[in-house]
Amino acid sequence: MTDQYNEIPFWHLDVKNPNKLNDKIPQSADFCIVGAGFTGLATALHLLKAGKSVVLFDAMKLGHGASGKNGGMVGPSLHKLGLDGLSQKYGKTKALAILQEGINAIDYFPQFIKSENIDCDLKMTGRFRGITNQKDLDQVIIDCENLMNLKGFKFEVVKGSDVQSEIGSDLYKGGVIYPRDGGLHPNKLLMGLVKKIVDLGGQIFEETLVGDIIKTPNGFETTTNKGTMVSDKVVIASNGYSKRFSGKFSSYFYKRLLPITSAMIATEQLPLELINRLFPKRRMHGGNHRLVQYYRASPDDKRVLFGARGTDQWDRPIQNGQGLKSNLCRIFPELNNVKIEYSWSGKVAYTFDHTPHLGIHDGLYYAIGYCGSGVTRSIYLARQLSRRILGQDDCQTAFDDLSFETKPFYYGNPWFMPAILKWHNFLDNIEGK
Ligand SMILES: Cc1cc2nc3c(=O)[nH]c(=O)nc-3n(C[C@H](O)[C@H](O)[C@H](O)COP(=O)(O)OP(=O)(O)OC[C@H]3O[C@@H](n4cnc5c(N)ncnc54)[C@H](O)[C@@H]3O)c2cc1C
Repeated sequence: MTDQYNEIPFWHLDVKNPNKLNDKIPQSADFCIVGAGFTGLATALHLLKAGKSVVLFDAMKLGHGASGKNGGMVGPSLHKLGLDGLSQKYGKTKALAILQEGINAIDYFPQFIKSENIDCDLKMTGRFRGITNQKDLDQVIIDCENLMNLKGFKFEVVKGSDVQSEIGSDLYKGGVIYPRDGGLHPNKLLMGLVKKIVDLGGQIFEETLVGDIIKTPNGFETTTNKGTMVSDKVVIASNGYSKRFSGKFSSYFYKRLLPITSAMIATEQLPLELINRLFPKRRMHGGNHRLVQYYRASPDDKRVLFGARGTDQWDRPIQNGQGLKSNLCRIFPELNNVKIEYSWSGKVAYTFDHTPHLGIHDGLYYAIGYCGSGVTRSIYLARQLSRRILGQDDCQTAFDDLSFETKPFYYGNPWFMPAILKWHNFLDNIEGK
């Protein structure tokens, strides 16, 4: 660690909330939204533009949920089960429709940022997925070829001899490029959305915990630690924090979500020549590990940012940071003596079917469960959900008719995950990934 070592997200360094937020909760509004991450904020934006009054509550300070401190990687995040796995479960037509939603999201995302004119360092530089052995590379290429049935899906194969033009690492035997992916500064996007909402008259209350939501004859009464308000409708956008900040309303949601810690580190500042050598095309990066790893140069080209799953459900910056650093050095041994300056983590929400879910339960609208890849999806599903709430056309998604599964005796605490993560880590290690 450097002398400046800090446990705040690197993304919070130079980006603060520029807006004065409200301090007195109004008596009523058309909409109350629980959670002011990308899902809650983007939904609020669409509702405000349709002339509705909106109040958002977040239990933490803005930017402290996953949306303000993620890897900033933008992509379609197709589906863990792939075409074969999904086809076995739902049939090929439905499988393709589910996968197409990822492409719909990546079609929409850059347009949204452009039309809203949000300065968040978005660059669609593509993603390189490095593969450590020929067997996995052959399989990844077959998987990608099968996905050519999707409208708008693109990939390029990188041979072993060309890997160095993508990344300054000897680890990979080849890989694939997803040219439609990109990267951004997540906290700039978050604060950009906050500003839009404030400008449109939306009211945001941070450090305000929603404890109870009661159905009334005219709508809902929402109780927080700072007061109570009534609204016609409520949207739940609490994702990976649904259990941590659970209230009486939230058991339906947290029983269907597995909150997992995703942890990140940022190195000390590095020479530009080194960044140029490691990330010659400034792509986003990942590998073929069972345990997801994601890494990139920071948008200011000064640091390496590296992320993976945390060791357990707790926020352990030192322990996570050490594990992440050793994984980073396996990819880039020349970073062995480089120090870590920032280490942080946040919560992502997995679902039992590896699919995000949106809809309405007991009168409460929700979009939730992005399975660790929510930058693009949250913004896209927030639009689909808002259209549905507003009774607009083109609100359907392939996720709408999927049942939102839970498991017997599961109450939102995935106590079994640390053992599964350790086992996957062990397998990755013995396979030299
Ligand atoms: C370290 C990390 C790296 C990641 N990297 C990437 C990446 O590179 N690319 C990608 O696509 N995805 C990534 N993700 C996932 C992505 O950040 C999330 O899927 C996405 O931000 C989810 O947005 P959200 O608005 O639904 O949830 P969040 O941003 O988590 O917001 C939910 C909010 O709800 C609030 N809340 C919950 N319950 C209550 C309550 N009762 N009362 C009031 N407020 C409440 C919480 O305080 C929280 O702020 C990463 C996540 C993490 C943690």
